[in-house]
Amino acid sequence: MKNITYYRDYLDISYFSWSVPDKGYVWIENTDFVQSEPASKILIINQKMQTENIIRPLANSELWLKFAQLETSCDHIESFANSFGWLGVGEAIIYKGNGTAMIVGESFLRWELEIRLLKTISQLWEWTKEENEEKLKKSITWNKSNVYFQNAFFKQLIAGYGMKRPEFFNVWTYGDLYGPAQVFIQEVLNEKLKEIHPRLLFNKDGNLQEYIYPKTLIAAIWYQFFQVITGQKKFIRCEICNEWMDVTEKRSDKTQHTKCGNLMRQKKLKNNTRVNKC
Ligand SMILES: [Zn+2]
Repeated sequence: MKNITYYRDYLDISYFSWSVPDKGYVWIENTDFVQSEPASKILIINQKMQTENIIRPLANSELWLKFAQLETSCDHIESFANSFGWLGVGEAIIYKGNGTAMIVGESFLRWELEIRLLKTISQLWEWTKEENEEKLKKSITWNKSNVYFQNAFFKQLIAGYGMKRPEFFNVWTYGDLYGPAQVFIQEVLNEKLKEIHPRLLFNKDGNLQEYIYPKTLIAAIWYQFFQVITGQKKFIRCEICNEWMDVTEKRSDKTQHTKCGNLMRQKKLKNNTRVNKC
């Protein structure tokens, strides 16, 4: 029997593949969902499609960030989908355009919900990490019988007396922010991780090996964020521009984007030259 070589890269989630139609996606209106979704614009595969390109969306280690920061407008969503594919949450719809046809589509409302949810949870995680009580206080609300999360988009019961997770509610100190925030993050993440499954796939030597594989692009994006929360991927904010950056493979003392550091040095050099001239 051949030896199985442990080939870490192949097992990495970044090898998740997804297909993107060569002519991209388009928004349509005038549709009915076969099931439950309310009416909204629907993203469908451009019917002029000739082929599908297989891509590896998670080769971009900042995809979760791109998604969390995505503007919830049709143009921005379409552009994201044309680069990385749609979310993979399509439902059958009846399109009443030129005649009636049944096709698969993803609603604008669903995209908006998914973007807002990742934005919300990634913010909450950051506030917990940096112990930003001022921000946490605005989203974790207590009363005598329950504690819930609330922002402009979501309101969700986290725990309550005799209702939901009483075992937590009974031991938390009234007004605690960290316990409820972490439980809410955990609840959302675990729900999203249900779409990730182990699979038996071939490694580069042709042997079978376990591989964690997301079912959809949105599940893959959440898995990438899960890796950030668990510390498998390391993200910090650049000390110059304050944007997130992936420092997983970088030196431990890296604190700024290379381009931000270079710009800063150029600026300093310019200022020094000016001073010398005087
Ligand atoms: Zn920067």
